[in-house]
Amino acid sequence: MISSTFTTAVTCMDGRIQIPVIEYMKSTFGVAYVDMITEPGPNKILSENTDNNIVGSIRRRVAISVEVHYSKVIAVVGHHDCVGNPTDKETQRHHIHNAVSMVNTWGFDAQVIGLWIDETWLVHEVSPRT
Ligand SMILES: [Zn+2]
Repeated sequence: MISSTFTTAVTCMDGRIQIPVIEYMKSTFGVAYVDMITEPGPNKILSENTDNNIVGSIRRRVAISVEVHYSKVIAVVGHHDCVGNPTDKETQRHHIHNAVSMVNTWGFDAQVIGLWIDETWLVHEVSPRT
């Protein structure tokens, strides 16, 4: 168990997944708060890594969460029925894995994990913790 008050979620803006993500992070990591960094389909955005403006914006927000709030865990989230990433589950999982690798290259002092939210809004960890 990591003793930190905050964690970080790079997650979709979709309103259906905010509470599942927050509850998963709070219960799994024993934190009080989850800083939410939202974009439509962020696993696709980070996996493709072609839009420097959005990727830079995500990175700056992650930096605030890690450096000011001392978050020790950064989750990258993908979910079922995503408007921002309208691909199948396997493609989305591939995007999540690529996005986790991408965020790891930023070198923050935090663990990076991937989360998948299924059609019943259950949260699954889909990448090994590093
Ligand atoms: Zn979405």
